[in-house]
Amino acid sequence: MTTTVQTSPARASARSTREWQAADAAHFLHPFTDHGALAKKGARIVTRAENIYIWDSEGHKILDAMSGLWCVNTGYGQQSLVDAAARQMQELPFYNAFFQTSTPPAIELAELLAQVSPPQFKHVFFTSSGSEGNDTVVRMVRRYWDLQGQPERHVIIGRRNGYHGSTMAGASLGGMSGMHAQGGLPIPGIVHIEQPHWYLHGRPAGQSRDEFGITAARWLEEAILAVGPSKVAAFIGEPVQGAGGVIVPPSTYWPEIQRICDKYGILLVSDEVICGFGRTGQWFGGETMGTRPDLMTFAKGVTSGYVPLGGVLVGERVANALIEAGTDFEHGFTYSGHPVACAVALANIRLIQRLNLVEHVRQDVGPYLAERFAELSAHPLVGETQTCGLMGAVQLVKDKASGAPFASELSVGMVCRGHCFGNGLIMRAVGDRMIIAPPLVISRGQIDELMQLIKRCLDLTLDDLR
Ligand code: PLP
Repeated sequence: MTTTVQTSPARASARSTREWQAADAAHFLHPFTDHGALAKKGARIVTRAENIYIWDSEGHKILDAMSGLWCVNTGYGQQSLVDAAARQMQELPFYNAFFQTSTPPAIELAELLAQVSPPQFKHVFFTSSGSEGNDTVVRMVRRYWDLQGQPERHVIIGRRNGYHGSTMAGASLGGMSGMHAQGGLPIPGIVHIEQPHWYLHGRPAGQSRDEFGITAARWLEEAILAVGPSKVAAFIGEPVQGAGGVIVPPSTYWPEIQRICDKYGILLVSDEVICGFGRTGQWFGGETMGTRPDLMTFAKGVTSGYVPLGGVLVGERVANALIEAGTDFEHGFTYSGHPVACAVALANIRLIQRLNLVEHVRQDVGPYLAERFAELSAHPLVGETQTCGLMGAVQLVKDKASGAPFASELSVGMVCRGHCFGNGLIMRAVGDRMIIAPPLVISRGQIDELMQLIKRCLDLTLDDLR
């Protein structure tokens, strides 16, 4: 399915692993990292990758079931993306999109994004990341309501445990308590409701998933009424919460959220940074969930992570207001519409189309992953499994019957993650929830290989607890 890039190991082998680790600890401040712990242990140095596998500096081959960081949708080593970058760098490595200028790759990408997204989206605003995309959302949503003559509509509602990035606005929209504990977040005008996590909230209350979906969506209505409907500008959510633990909402949830947004006239923002570009078996997660968003944030899968690019797809309701405003939208980045990033995104989206990856997820590997993941429910550690397209979660519990969790000091999720690390598998732990989001090019045979690895790591975790 892939044409792979021939890589040279020259740079990787220039130093030993210990030398790389020492230089890393001495100079590199990593994101979301305890540097004391990292310096003691030493970073794993990743040196090359192909298809769904990465290799470290010790020569270990590892199945990357997290697609890098939820982004390498077309897999590693795609020559057409490399060629697109090289060609564009030679022809026009940079020009900006300010001051009434534009470039062919940015124009063609805007056109192609309009083609693959739902019909209300004809315009796009480019950024370099998902966080910048969500900062753009905050400014755009507030600008929209100013233009409507309703500047008091400035409150944006997000969800606890949602993740919308690391900038001041992105981290504020998100509901990560650890992030809010540092640096005076959230910024004013952001309110959070609970996440639609049936296992945590619905099951103990004795609700079916569908009943719980309605209850959880109505938390939005309660928040709108508490804030005052005339002050609420927008609701933002990930179709499936990713970093929060692959929380697949009940099928009743998003239609009810859409109904509530429509009832109060508030904008619906779908953060598609993880769910976009085929991850859920449609081009965008909102299509899988049955919503009609006004804005969609994207990043990651748009270039399969080969180069940084993000943005906001802007539906007609907001786009028309901005276009007809008669003045500037005072917002933009040096790299908005970067020609090299846009050229790589074009090659990546065309590759998704050529390989029929969206259908591959919807009709083949997505259902197969669901079938194989369901088998894990028989394991003594597993309370529930969930999948949506090529995202999956395994909830580890102390007691299967009651669903009682392990004491947090045991860090069972981290123990399991450690076994994954040691056994050639990248899987992420969110508390005691083990999650995956493999590259969309994965085959059924590779899913079998993945399942064998997951089972082995669950067994090793169980052994540790005995
Ligand atoms: N939104 C979602 C749903 C994400 O998962 C992420 C990153 O993981 C972001 C936004 C932020 O994107 P970035 O890290 O590119 O700024």
